[in-house]
Amino acid sequence: MFVRSPCLYLLVLLVIWTRDVNGGARTPFFDLTVYNDWPQFEDYIKGVAHDNPSFVQLKTIGRTREGRPLLGVRIGKPALPGKRKIAVWLDGGNHAREWPAFHVAVYFIEKLVNGYLSDDKITKYVETLDIYVFPVLNPDGFVYSRTSTRAMIRQWRKNRAPENCTGTGPFQTDICCEGVDLNRNYDIGFSHKNYPFNNPCSDEFQGPRPFSEPETRAVRDFIMSSEIYGRLYALVSMHTHGQLWILPYNYQKRTYPQDIKDLEILANRAADRVFAYRETKYRVGTAADMLGTATGGATDWIKKNTPTKYVYVLELPPDMKTWFAFQVKPHWLIPIGKETWLGIEVIFDQVVEETKNFQPTEPTTNGTSADSRSPRFRQL
Ligand SMILES: [Zn+2]
Repeated sequence: MFVRSPCLYLLVLLVIWTRDVNGGARTPFFDLTVYNDWPQFEDYIKGVAHDNPSFVQLKTIGRTREGRPLLGVRIGKPALPGKRKIAVWLDGGNHAREWPAFHVAVYFIEKLVNGYLSDDKITKYVETLDIYVFPVLNPDGFVYSRTSTRAMIRQWRKNRAPENCTGTGPFQTDICCEGVDLNRNYDIGFSHKNYPFNNPCSDEFQGPRPFSEPETRAVRDFIMSSEIYGRLYALVSMHTHGQLWILPYNYQKRTYPQDIKDLEILANRAADRVFAYRETKYRVGTAADMLGTATGGATDWIKKNTPTKYVYVLELPPDMKTWFAFQVKPHWLIPIGKETWLGIEVIFDQVVEETKNFQPTEPTTNGTSADSRSPRFRQL
């Protein structure tokens, strides 16, 4: 193509130069000063993979009830031949109304992609790790929550499972209600006696059986797939709100994995780092101990069924004193992204340090149950 105008010519040179100093990385435009709709997320996730094929790969791990793709990216330079990289996972959670968490996940993608080759720390992460980021794990619910300002819809939490008519209310039975709380649908502590999780009209309905929902099955199957099983070392799932750095387990009070001390020490270090930025104070502990038990949680199930060591839920700002504040004013999205990222860096640094002499073995997951697989990370 001929470039006729000198101005345009200079502009082309400038764009080439800018891309060069930035290591060739670029990200599609995504406005983090406002709340975006699902199509913006979808375009962004696909676009960032398309524009950076040398180190960003699009991941579609399944489809929702309504057929939307469950999208994410893998950010990382390809492993050397015959080697497997350590993997880490960040997600924006699965609760429809928790829009800030979805946006903070995009902030993380921005940080990683734009920082590659221009920021030493991030370059090291991209070279050493495979970083999986899934901004929205419940797009159906998210879309629904954006369709109205009516509280019933705007504050929707579940997915869009069709109505189930075994619901109960104070004076009634057999009420029909829609949706399943994806973070109660995993197979951990699941029981038909769990009240109120057994009530389809509850905001926290666990579903008719564990993994009844395509969204939870997709996450489970990907976590157990040969692509990441045995090399996923840390996972952070973001929700809103409460300023809590949540450790496993949460399906029962005072129940912990054997390496809880390691998880707690690292969580405290990360929370201290976040606090140092603008004094956002996180409480560290299990949600079961701090708030009450919640069965069927994604991170509990992952900690119990895989060798993934550092597994956390972050309840982002604001704190618990503000009631029902799932959607902070959007001008807070970038400050929350910045401070949370500082905590994520503490986790990534620990993962890199702890696994530097460690080579994940080839996966041999096919045909074996989770229980029979050896937790490969124990040898560390
Ligand atoms: Zn949540």
